[in-house]
Amino acid sequence: MQAMVLTQRGQPLAWTELPDRQPGLGEIRVKVAACGVCRTDLHVVDGELPHPQFPIIPGHEIVGRIDAVGPGVEGLRLGQRVGIPWLGHTCGACPYCRMQRENLCDRPRFTGYTRDGGFATAAVADARFAFALGDAGSDESLAPLLCAGLIGWRALGIAGEAKALGLYGFGAAAHILAQVARWQGRAVFAFTRPGDLATQAFARSLGAQWAGGSDELPPQPLDAAILFATVGDLVPLALKAVRKGGRVVCAGIHMSDIPAFPYRLLWEERELLSVANLTRQDGLDFLRQAPQMGLVTRTTRYPLQRANEALADLRAGRFEGAAVLVP
Ligand SMILES: [Zn+2]
Ligand SMILES: [Zn+2]
Repeated sequence: MQAMVLTQRGQPLAWTELPDRQPGLGEIRVKVAACGVCRTDLHVVDGELPHPQFPIIPGHEIVGRIDAVGPGVEGLRLGQRVGIPWLGHTCGACPYCRMQRENLCDRPRFTGYTRDGGFATAAVADARFAFALGDAGSDESLAPLLCAGLIGWRALGIAGEAKALGLYGFGAAAHILAQVARWQGRAVFAFTRPGDLATQAFARSLGAQWAGGSDELPPQPLDAAILFATVGDLVPLALKAVRKGGRVVCAGIHMSDIPAFPYRLLWEERELLSVANLTRQDGLDFLRQAPQMGLVTRTTRYPLQRANEALADLRAGRFEGAAVLVP
């Protein structure tokens, strides 16, 4: 197999020939057909997450077909198309696993961070955490659903019943979630970097009722806002944009420091909370309904060997929607 390997924080990924891997007990091996590029991959490369492991193959939005099945695997078969998400393993025994909050597991493993991911021609995964994908939709169009879509879905659930929903940072996740929210009958208000008129137009094309800079206030108070941008300065701005009792949900795994802000922005029962990871149930719920939503993912395709270019373009905001690597 070949892979783009991160050997040290901050280094470019290196195209590497590796021995083929065999799936162990309860594992499957997939031939990777497409793997999305997520902002979290940048955090992995930059060493911004705790306890990094090197060498590591990043990538946690994997679509592929099973080409080897280890002993003890149930419910999946050779040749089947599956998706492999960020949540790669949970312990099943800690208090969080036992209270159906496996996204908070004390001993988790994460694809492309603490176990090898999908910036490769093949990937081995714990079969219990892979999702059967069926035959509808192209590999490339489905890849971004596996993190951008899934984490967005979880964040939307945590945002609650909000009819007027703000999305701060209109990248891979928001461009999917805007469509999900419209399908659910919500009004979407999109916030981009100030002056990024192209992304604002992109947001409106996906059904956003209003799009503007993150330094602007929306035309009406929001019921909830979800922050995908990893910029702590946005937290007080979003609190200012939500109504009394409104909710601000931080969906990123990492964020720059949140500046001090006056208590009155939080007062009147506004809530500020974060989303961490996903549960398998989130994935099943989202992927079951996604085919009915008519989602159109905007993808920019890069050959696997050009993963570094995809990461650089993501960092610089040089494309709309999501980047996808194809071996
Ligand atoms: Zn656990
Ligand atoms: Zn991700």
